[in-house]
Amino acid sequence: MSAASFSLLFVLFLVASTAIKSGLMLRQIRHVAARRGAVPEPFAESIGLSAHQRAADYTVARMRLTGVETLAGAVFVLALTLGGALQAVHGLLTQAWPAGSLLHGVALLGCIALASWLIELPFSLYRIFVVEKHFGFNRMTPALFISDTLKEGLLATLVGLPLLAVVLWLMGAMGKYWWLWVWAFWLAFNLLVLLVWPSFIAPLFNTFTPLGDEALKSRVEALLQRCGFKSKGLYVMDGSRRSAHGNAYFTGFGAARRIVFFDTLLDKLAPAEVEAVLAHELGHFSHRHIVKRLAVLAPLSLALLALLGWLVTQPWFFAGLGAHSQDTATALALFFIALPAFTFPLGPLMSHWSRRHEFEADAYAAAQTRASDLVAALTKLYRDNASTLTPDPLYSRFFDSHPPAAIRIARLQALPE
Ligand SMILES: [Zn+2]
Repeated sequence: MSAASFSLLFVLFLVASTAIKSGLMLRQIRHVAARRGAVPEPFAESIGLSAHQRAADYTVARMRLTGVETLAGAVFVLALTLGGALQAVHGLLTQAWPAGSLLHGVALLGCIALASWLIELPFSLYRIFVVEKHFGFNRMTPALFISDTLKEGLLATLVGLPLLAVVLWLMGAMGKYWWLWVWAFWLAFNLLVLLVWPSFIAPLFNTFTPLGDEALKSRVEALLQRCGFKSKGLYVMDGSRRSAHGNAYFTGFGAARRIVFFDTLLDKLAPAEVEAVLAHELGHFSHRHIVKRLAVLAPLSLALLALLGWLVTQPWFFAGLGAHSQDTATALALFFIALPAFTFPLGPLMSHWSRRHEFEADAYAAAQTRASDLVAALTKLYRDNASTLTPDPLYSRFFDSHPPAAIRIARLQALPE
């Protein structure tokens, strides 16, 4: 392939993916706004008109912000590649370290990561302190935001930079099949993160206290016993420090496995509803959804790394993306900057798969607890989280990891109690 035709292909994919995303977001905004006036039938009894209108306004506000962010992201990608910004940074850094050296490579990738963080920063600030605040969800103070940012920055520096150094070293030292080594290293690192996250990383940001409510505790323990699930403890997390949105999740695996409830979830739901939500999470576990995801993502990442292993040897890959330096760090940076434009068609497939898993987890919860409790819990969560009840079907097919509210509730109600 020639550099010029690869440039053209890249721009085509980038423009097409940005245009499709923007078009779908516009559809979503129009669809939700047009249905703002009336609560859809299945929720007419349980959700009031003002809550429905708040959800519509919240959805539209967030969608507008995401739309602008998507456009800014595409401009940033173009600036880095064909705009020559990556090559310019590369050149600047050669004044401190020789091009192709490990330090130069780590500095280059660190600068790109810092730049993309800076591009996203105004959007995060606007999301938290304007949109979330306006709709009454934000509990984050500017001081907490700054302390979170400092901690995340420190973690990224202490963990991320050495990690990049190892990857770049493997790419240089392991010969033709370096990508196998990088893949194995990457998998091992991910497993390690899963193992240390609950005990070492998560407590840096939140406080975890053992579940104190005895009645709820015995209920949950009975459910765990019924489902044959062993956990190393039930915890309540102070999610209310940052946001009023509620959730429940599992973290870790093996000995580190624990169940975490957001305090905001326990405040909102009755004990039977909490049990139903947890049963849904257990459904994901029972159906081995995480293992299945890993079984698809691990070979996929190996294939992508093998592709990078080939691209590194192709001059048109560098020149086609606006770089004339052909070292491993430049290849790695260009690959991850350009990749999303090409993998964009995988998005709806992954969303479809994820929605199927949600239905399976719902069916499991209905079998282990009562479908009506899960319906009640979900209805409260839709209302309190201001989730739209009327998403655009096409938008939803493309982006939503969870089924639309009405379809999900209808499925649950059709299940035998
Ligand atoms: Zn789920």
